[in-house]
Amino acid sequence: MTPTENADAAAAPWERHFREPERAFAQASELASSAVDGRVRAWSELTIAYHHLYFTANPLEAKPWIERAAARFEASGERRGGLLAQVAAARLAIVEGDADAARERLLALYAESQQVLAPEDRFWLLNAIGAAHYFTDRLDDAIRYLYEALETLRDGETSPQHPTIMSNLAAALVTVGDYPPACELAEAALTALARYDNPQLLMFARSNLAEALAGCGAHERALDIVQQMLDASEPRRAAQNHYLAIAAEILARNGRIEEASRCADTARAIHADFPGGFNEAHRHWADAVVADATGDRRLARERLSAAAEASQRLHYLPGECKAWARLAELHASERDFEAAYGCSCRLLAAETERLSHRASAKYYLLRVQHELSHARAERDRALAQRQQTERMNEELARLNADLTHKMIQVEALQAQLAVEAVHDPLTQLFNRRYLDSVMPGLIGAAERRHASLALALVDLDHFKHVNDRHGHPAGDAVLREIGRVLPMALRPADVVCRYGGEEFCIVLPDADGVGAERALASLAARLRDLRVAWNGATLGGFTFSAGVAVLGMHGTTFADLLQAADRALYAAKDAGRDRILVAATSAGTRGP
Ligand code: GH3
Ligand code: MG
Ligand code: MG
Repeated sequence: MTPTENADAAAAPWERHFREPERAFAQASELASSAVDGRVRAWSELTIAYHHLYFTANPLEAKPWIERAAARFEASGERRGGLLAQVAAARLAIVEGDADAARERLLALYAESQQVLAPEDRFWLLNAIGAAHYFTDRLDDAIRYLYEALETLRDGETSPQHPTIMSNLAAALVTVGDYPPACELAEAALTALARYDNPQLLMFARSNLAEALAGCGAHERALDIVQQMLDASEPRRAAQNHYLAIAAEILARNGRIEEASRCADTARAIHADFPGGFNEAHRHWADAVVADATGDRRLARERLSAAAEASQRLHYLPGECKAWARLAELHASERDFEAAYGCSCRLLAAETERLSHRASAKYYLLRVQHELSHARAERDRALAQRQQTERMNEELARLNADLTHKMIQVEALQAQLAVEAVHDPLTQLFNRRYLDSVMPGLIGAAERRHASLALALVDLDHFKHVNDRHGHPAGDAVLREIGRVLPMALRPADVVCRYGGEEFCIVLPDADGVGAERALASLAARLRDLRVAWNGATLGGFTFSAGVAVLGMHGTTFADLLQAADRALYAAKDAGRDRILVAATSAGTRGP
């Protein structure tokens, strides 16, 4: 077998097992009884075995499945499966309380597994070797193997194995008393586990985190985590004692003695069923913290002693340290200094051992820290990258908004320019340029429709006087007012434009000479009534002279009409101003 053969159809339930334990287990159970192919059966049996070992209430149920799978792999000579079955058997031995034998068996598989197992399979061996060392008081080696398991996974895709190993490392760090990195590892494990449906692993990670937090003095957060454990669906039993011990401790510290006491009861029952691991130490510790919290000093001393002795016997250092320390305090408070001294000596011995483990594991701990800081740096880099992308998106959105705004401005400006291009700024009337551009169209339309069209040139009378008397600005004000009034007196289709200084050109579609005269007469009336307030004075009494030309009668082009209207205007001025004259035809000019 080579690692590349891992994508093996027969091993399908095994491959998905850790990701989706329940579904993989169901699939394996089905195949284990129905499959014809012996290999499919073997992998299904192995999957069922691991499921019992890691995910069900009773790991001992794994036993027959391990044996069956091992026999099949043995018969077929499939080493990958064979090695994994042996790892499972050793793991079972740890649960049964024979961690020493398990350790030796597992170490014997190490060399071959390097050849045969792909990283995600080798993980199981390394993790089990770590556990076997952990339960046989070889903490530095435990940390070393757990670290190796972590390293093995480094290049693979993210899997539930990552948080498992982080959580196990956290437990090992707690054991040697290195709480802050333990917190960090357990927190990271919890975060990663959120992606998988694996309550068992969640419970591991939470109890390790709670203990690490308590060790750091972060009691509130520790209670938080314990509360999450209590809220979670019922944890699996065999591996539950660590959780129960730490939950009892934290609950009791917070005065929740009834809940703590229930944890202690369960721990006792579990220990009876599963004597392996540190279950005995956990069970006594749970009892001790409850007794201590009730204030019964005698009972507390008795139970703390039991916890301390069991922890010492099992080489469970955190339990020992906690129990000896509290016991010494209790004795001292009762002035039994000899007993307090005895406990302190034992505490010192345990602490010394713990420190020495920590020192020998320091190299690996540093590498774990390095690994953590690497992971942190990666995370920070990803975060920074995301933030930068977000910033760039925001900037882009801002630029887009700016651009849109500017485009609106430019369009408005263009529209304004277009308006300004054909308007006179003082009077807001159309200018000559506009007239030049629209006249051919107006004349053409009138001709096509055989309609009439009149053009009038209007010049204000004696406008110089306004300027002379009141100043040029006053003249401007009057022109501005006239510009406002003129269009109001005319039809919407009429075009009024400022032709020169105080001279206007008015085009009246559909008007003949008479119609034009009538329209201009009403204009004249308006103007005469116009009053413009200026510097306290009121200016008024404006008149104009106008000359009118009619399309067809006085020519067929704009120039013809202008010329004829201009002549008529002169004639109106000559005739005494304040009048409207239609240009002369061969029949001569007409007065109003
Ligand atoms: P009339 O046309 O009746 O012969 O007399 P008038 O005083 O109006 O004489 P004319 O038409 O020759 O001169 C126009 C005067 O209008 C000259 C100038 O002072 C004044 N004028 C022309 N354009 C403007 C203007 O934009 N603002 C002001 N305030 N005055 C203007
Ligand atoms: Mg003039
Ligand atoms: Mg004039």
